[in-house]
Amino acid sequence: MNPSAAHPHVPAEPAASLPADDHRRLGHELDLFASDPLLPVGMPIWLPNGAIVRSVLERYIVDAERDSGYAHVYSPPLGRKAMYEISGHWDHFAEAMFPPIDDGAEQVVLRPMNCPHHIVAYRCRPRSWRDLPLRIAELGAMFRNEPSGSLSGLSRVRAMVLNDAHHFLDPARIAEEVALVISMIEAAYADLGLSGHHYRLSLRGDGAKYVADPGLWDRAEAALAGALDDLGVGYEPVRGEAAFYGPKVDVQVPGRGGREESFSSVQLDFHLPERFSLSYAGAGGPGRPVMLHRSVLSSMERCLSFLLEQHAGNLPVWLAPVQVVVLPVNPSDGDQRRAVDEVSRAARAAGLRSEVDAADEPLGSRVRKARLRRVPYRVVVGDREAGSGKVAVSLRSGRALEPMPVARFVAGAAGVASRRSQDLWGSHSD
Ligand SMILES: [Zn+2]
Repeated sequence: MNPSAAHPHVPAEPAASLPADDHRRLGHELDLFASDPLLPVGMPIWLPNGAIVRSVLERYIVDAERDSGYAHVYSPPLGRKAMYEISGHWDHFAEAMFPPIDDGAEQVVLRPMNCPHHIVAYRCRPRSWRDLPLRIAELGAMFRNEPSGSLSGLSRVRAMVLNDAHHFLDPARIAEEVALVISMIEAAYADLGLSGHHYRLSLRGDGAKYVADPGLWDRAEAALAGALDDLGVGYEPVRGEAAFYGPKVDVQVPGRGGREESFSSVQLDFHLPERFSLSYAGAGGPGRPVMLHRSVLSSMERCLSFLLEQHAGNLPVWLAPVQVVVLPVNPSDGDQRRAVDEVSRAARAAGLRSEVDAADEPLGSRVRKARLRRVPYRVVVGDREAGSGKVAVSLRSGRALEPMPVARFVAGAAGVASRRSQDLWGSHSD
């Protein structure tokens, strides 16, 4: 029996035979994630380097959300089956869900989406108009029983963590809330070095499948279009692409090989507030909020696979798992060893992720290793540098900088990282 048929997550071909910009190959070269016959299909493990990138992304987006007035929750990755019967997932989404776990007393399911849990966070307290808009956010784990043949690296998985949030709002506030999300998306794409994206506005078509009254749809569609217009971002309106429960904005990004993918999304929902009987005490009587579902970074899994392919592995400095590698020319020379340790310590003290590579190998092979790992800064210390307190720095792009004092290098690299600059050094193009 062909072992790759028994374990479809074990690549039939070694990573080296995949295209150079395929995230599965890059994930292997950069030591970011791995599959294993003992892990379920579509559930790779994040290795230490991948975990660094992920934790930097997670901290980044959680901070951005906090700055934008989101409140974070932690909710269990399982829900009672009844929750998904109310939400409608059980009827319409069951084939993408894992079978329920029955413990004799109740049936629970691994959640395919986080929305119902955030609805619980909304409705577990009486709400008034003063609480709105309420923005509930979570890096929420979700599970999808995707067909095994469609699974691929980190881009299509069965367990994922979504950069998820739900806004509960008065329908009169739709335009402001959508504008807030779009400005977060634009800021994140600039920091991640993503470009070439465009917006797609999915509107309702003809037919009776669309819930809620036509007046609310008209207002909502006009509010979405107005928010995009106000921000000056172009968009393509597409009739008949809306979900039955509300219009949405998709951010289309260019993928590998010219394919276009939806990455971020903002979705209006009139339906779930109805299904879960959400309400708030308004100034003139009870009101029903509308919901906005949004994701800026998509799932952590898709985000990393996408960044790897967009940047061909050359992640922006602030995301690189190792930012600085310090190399003694002669690893057995005591002065050089002391000097490289000092450079690496200074880099770490400035918040950079720095390593010393003093393996007993020729300098050339250690340089090649650092290049394969796409380390942004290679710092070489020989006798001359060890004696002078200067360092010779080469950028990942191949450019060599003039020798400079350690402090100047450290301040420069730390500045690039903290500004989330897309350049490797100063304002030069690299
Ligand atoms: Zn949702």
